[in-house]
Amino acid sequence: MHYHLLLTQRCNLECSYCGGTREAEHMEVEYSIEALRSFIAKDPSPVIAFYGGEPLLRLELMEQVMDAIPATYILHTNGVLLHKVKPRYLRRFHTVLISIDGRREVTDAYRGRGVYDRIIKNARRARKHFRGDLIARMVASLRSDIYEDVLHLARLGIFDHVHWQLDFELFWDGGSEIAREWLRSYNAGITKLVREWVSEMQRGELLGLVPFIGITKTLLTRNPAKLRCGAGVDFFAISPSGEITLCPVTPEYEFMRVGSIFDTSPEELKNCASLKEPCASCDLLWVCGGRCLFINLAKEWVGERGYALICSTVRHLVGELSAALPEIKRMIKEGAVPEKAFSYPEINNDCEVVP
Ligand code: SF4
Ligand code: SF4
Repeated sequence: MHYHLLLTQRCNLECSYCGGTREAEHMEVEYSIEALRSFIAKDPSPVIAFYGGEPLLRLELMEQVMDAIPATYILHTNGVLLHKVKPRYLRRFHTVLISIDGRREVTDAYRGRGVYDRIIKNARRARKHFRGDLIARMVASLRSDIYEDVLHLARLGIFDHVHWQLDFELFWDGGSEIAREWLRSYNAGITKLVREWVSEMQRGELLGLVPFIGITKTLLTRNPAKLRCGAGVDFFAISPSGEITLCPVTPEYEFMRVGSIFDTSPEELKNCASLKEPCASCDLLWVCGGRCLFINLAKEWVGERGYALICSTVRHLVGELSAALPEIKRMIKEGAVPEKAFSYPEINNDCEVVP
């Protein structure tokens, strides 16, 4: 199973869409490594993703966990302290996800002046030692141009993949008129981006755009997708207090709490939550997977209008990729692009696939 380990709730940035350091009752890890080790030891194939806050603010603790617990490791970081990670630890990660929102002006507007340059410098440096999957993880919000920002990151020659997630504040309480307007331009950008992605394939290159690859894989195989992030199925978060939640977002909601490392076993957690309506009977569930368990369980957060807005972006994206499918199939058949290139991700690598 897959565990997000929140090493701290503190952060060294104050991104505009996040609000900076969250004031929480349990800011720092309170359990012992031995307690964590004995919980994880009951899982035959654990994946541990370091998360925060900014996990690299607790670099020593991260190293101690990696020294003590055999697991597949993933790191989520804002990249500002990435240069501090020793090469021998860096090499052990299966995947490193760096938060970066696109072009310099967009990233700096969301994350702070000078952050883009620091991230790029550290990512280039990390690339020298790290041979795993380096993913640029974007938040797309009102300042983003999805076409420009995604292509910018995909063509830097640093990242293997680019994944993005829509800022959920856009959907809050049904979405403001400004947000609705922006989402119209987002959908238009997706149309352009799918065309460019297919054109690149025709020129012999598969751009590593995670949402496109992941959804195309489902369309090709027609194997129904599960909830892509795996929350409540085989993916959980461990908060600094040792409490286990369905996902790392909003642990303050009572219904998100499902156990603790002190008295719950991984086996008891498996499949402990499932999607409700409208996802449960949606005609697109087999491709979408349900998008987000938290929003599904806390629908009042976005309201019916907000939910419909989220689904409209999913329908648009799936519609554009379905329209491109015959051409993609043709290229696979003629050997222009290998079908196995769409067998991604090989493990749940913290990309929810559907933005
Ligand atoms: S399209 Fe909307 S309703 Fe349908 S499965 Fe996805 S999130 Fe749920
Ligand atoms: S997609 Fe939703 S449920 Fe899944 S990890 Fe993200 S916030 Fe949590």
